[in-house]
Amino acid sequence: MSKDSVQDGLVVSMDYKLTVDGEVLDSSDDAGPLQFLVGYGNIIPGLEKEMMGMKIGDSKDVVVAPEDGYGEFDDEAFMDVPRADFPADIEIEEGAELHITADDGSHQMAFVESFDDTTVHLDFNHPLAGAELHFSVKVVALREPTAEELDHGHAHEEGHDHE
Ligand code: ZN
Repeated sequence: MSKDSVQDGLVVSMDYKLTVDGEVLDSSDDAGPLQFLVGYGNIIPGLEKEMMGMKIGDSKDVVVAPEDGYGEFDDEAFMDVPRADFPADIEIEEGAELHITADDGSHQMAFVESFDDTTVHLDFNHPLAGAELHFSVKVVALREPTAEELDHGHAHEEGHDHE
């Protein structure tokens, strides 16, 4: 297969803009094009699927439904945790993002919905759960990944080293 279009195993550089409810939440205007290795779950699946086959210079508007984005909002994904269960040095405030280690050792992200002296109410929904995501994307470059990138399963920014 020719390597001139978006496909598994290539690194794509794209300009993008993410809009939710008419508000621009994120765009490459700030940080420059985003690079990602296709086929390794590095961007949300609903967007990656729609970008397959795009060529350099192609632009596309993609609407991603919640189930292909950050999931549906889950009314059950709330939990009350005793304030005393949190280490004293953790500052609890509304909207704070916490890394929770469950009893089975798994890690989850949670947000503080509210709290009082005895109880912290946690929300395990992603902030964009239930949101319809509007992406404007443009493919600006395509290239083969390096052996290291393939090994890691993600793209590396130019000139950027990591372990
Ligand atoms: Zn890496």
